[in-house]
Amino acid sequence: MKVFVNEDTCIGCGLCADTCPDIFEVIEDKAVVKISEVPENYEELVKEAKDNCPVDAISIEE
Ligand code: SF4
Repeated sequence: MKVFVNEDTCIGCGLCADTCPDIFEVIEDKAVVKISEVPENYEELVKEAKDNCPVDAISIEE
């Protein structure tokens, strides 16, 4: 599974980084993906972060 953040949409709220800090990090008000190829044990948390993003900026590619 791969994960991406749309930098144009992201408002830097930090929710994804709170949910899954090993995968997401907020730098200068934008979330960046630290490991785009998501390890299997993080998939559920990444999906949760995607579902909770208030502006739908996170996308997943299975
Ligand atoms: S939850 Fe969404 S809007 Fe908030 S920092 Fe993460 S990607 Fe950006």
